Amino acid sequence: MKRKEIFAGNWKMHKNISEATDFIEKLNDTLKNENREIVIFPPALSVVSLVEKAKNKNVNFGVQNMYFEEKGAFTGELSPLMVKDSGVKYILIGHSERRSIFGETDIEVNKKIEAALSVDLQIMLCVGELLDERESGKTEEVLKRQIEGAFQNISKENIKNIVVAYEPVWAIGTGKVATPDMADEAHLIIRNLISDLYGADSASMIPILYGGSVKPDNVNGLFEKENIDGALIGGASLEVDSFNKIVSV
Ligand code: PEP
Repeated sequence: MKRKEIFAGNWKMHKNISEATDFIEKLNDTLKNENREIVIFPPALSVVSLVEKAKNKNVNFGVQNMYFEEKGAFTGELSPLMVKDSGVKYILIGHSERRSIFGETDIEVNKKIEAALSVDLQIMLCVGELLDERESGKTEEVLKRQIEGAFQNISKENIKNIVVAYEPVWAIGTGKVATPDMADEAHLIIRNLISDLYGADSASMIPILYGGSVKPDNVNGLFEKENIDGALIGGASLEVDSFNKIVSV
C-alpha cells in the first residue's frame, strides 16, 4: 500500500489573522489524489478562526509547539488539551528552531510526543543534523539519537499517529536544499532506525517528509524518491502562489 503524502506549511512567526485568512481562501486544496494531505501550521492565535473558516476546504491545521504538562503555572505555554480543543489535527514537535533557539532536548521532545498521543493529536516530529555534524560524518549518529530519544517508551500501536520530517538544519531557511539522493539516503536511515524499534511493517507505513528550502523550482525529482513522502515547507509556504505550485506537483 502506498504511504500517505503530506505537504505541510510551517508559517513560524509570520502572518496576522487577516493575512492568514486571505491565504487560506486562495489555497489550492483540490488534491490530485485522495492520498495527499495538506497541512498548515499557522501562529496559534489564528488557528481557531482558520479551522472554522476552512471547514469546507481540504486542508488540515496544526499548532507549532506546546508544553507537555496538563495544566498549571507555565506562563506563556499551551497545554496538549488546549491544542486539541482548538480543532487542529497536528502538533509540530522538535523543530530545529525549538531545539536551537529555545534549548529543547530529546527528553522534552519525547515528553511532548507522549502528551500529544494522550489527547489524540497527530504528531509531526522534526529531526535533522547540523552542518558540522554532516561534514564530520555524524548524520546517522545524530538521527539515531534523535529518533531513539523521541520514540522512547512509545508503543508500536501509537506510531501510526506520527509523521517524521527530516530537516537538515543546514538547509532550513538557507536556500541550500539537499539533493533528492541525499534526502532519500537520510530518509532510509530514519526508516531503518524505526524498523529496528518497531519492525519493518510499521516503519514502512510512516510518512517521512523532507524539509529545508523547498521551493517550486527545486522539487523536481524529490517526490519520486522511494522514501520521500512529501514536504515540510517554511519560507515558500508564506506565499500562496509558491505553496500552491509545490502542493500541485
Ligand atoms: C522549516 O522551517 O521547517 C523549513 C523547512 O523552512 P524553509 O523551507 O524556509 O527552509
